[in-house]
Amino acid sequence: MRKDAVYVRGIGGLLSAPPKDRLHRWSLIFLRSKSMTNAKRIDGKAMAAACSESISARTAQLVERTGVKPGLTVVIVGEDPASQVYVRNKKRTAEACGFNSVQHSLPEDSTEEDVLSLIDELNNDPSVHGILVQLPLPGHLDEELITQSIRPEKDVDGFHFQNIGMLTAGHLDGAFVPCTPAGCMLMIEEQVGKDLSGLNAVIIGRSNIVGKPMASLLLKANATVTICHSRTKDLPEVACSADILVAAVGRAEMVKGEWIKPGAVVIDVGINRIEVDGEKKNKLVGDVNYGEAVEIAGAVTPVPGGVGPMTIVMLMANTLQSAERVACIS
Ligand code: NAD
Repeated sequence: MRKDAVYVRGIGGLLSAPPKDRLHRWSLIFLRSKSMTNAKRIDGKAMAAACSESISARTAQLVERTGVKPGLTVVIVGEDPASQVYVRNKKRTAEACGFNSVQHSLPEDSTEEDVLSLIDELNNDPSVHGILVQLPLPGHLDEELITQSIRPEKDVDGFHFQNIGMLTAGHLDGAFVPCTPAGCMLMIEEQVGKDLSGLNAVIIGRSNIVGKPMASLLLKANATVTICHSRTKDLPEVACSADILVAAVGRAEMVKGEWIKPGAVVIDVGINRIEVDGEKKNKLVGDVNYGEAVEIAGAVTPVPGGVGPMTIVMLMANTLQSAERVACIS
């Protein structure tokens, strides 16, 4: 993707490439379905790098004009190794964007009062524009109580009920959109444009952090949306009706080639660690069987290197948006 094709959109803090016109979009889908050649690999890593450059440039402008430097604070409780890696990546990206990046590491046995009192402090600290509590939390802590204690205007994960409500009502201007669906949406827009009128979108997974907000974004873009889950009947058949298929389940390579409509855009959110050849080594795979999907889809995101990097960069976009709101720049 060309770096100069990326610009920051005012709605929901998203970054996006300019839309392709609808005729081009339809001919693209038609040609892909006819030719049945290998799918395009959607390079989330390259897209995220381009978005990150755009965020850095806008951050530098914000600091120069107003003196406001975006501040992202991550709270992590306990020693979960996967969470430690995610938090390190977020910190590195925040620093690369020119943010003030702070991490609070609390011990595993912290009480709810400990975490809530830290969040209260951060809620009242004007240098903090975004607060993120790394999930999952240790079992004795109430995740919902803690995530809902973050002020909506600093909730850059988009998990606060106020942000969820605004997204569901289609008010993207004032809401923070959860980072994973926001990143997926940009990748979809890059393939088929911003207006998804007439396209069928199927989401597998109905979680609050991926499936449901993804549905709201696709609906807002005029797609006809179906949400599937563990109780859905005839899942392969439903999936096969999708021009846009989003898999967010957490089951390694569950979506087979024959579940995919020729030419479809396939977004694989899943992250699953599997053993390789019964050895101790393991590798990351998505919810989609990539080898089969590339034979039939129009475009597919790989795992790793697809949705993951875009999720992190969307967190930065939300934090920048929060700082710009404080500095009264729309
Ligand atoms: P979740 O466990 O909260 O939700 C999983 C959903 O899948 C549920 O709605 C469930 O009904 C559905 N499901 C389970 N089994 C199914 C089946 N057999 N058929 C159809 N649906 C089924 O998970 P989540 O938090 O939404 O995450 C989903 C996956 O995405 C996980 O692998 C997670 O690690 C990954 N993830 C990746 C990113 C990223 O940045 N790449 C971000 C968030 C989550």
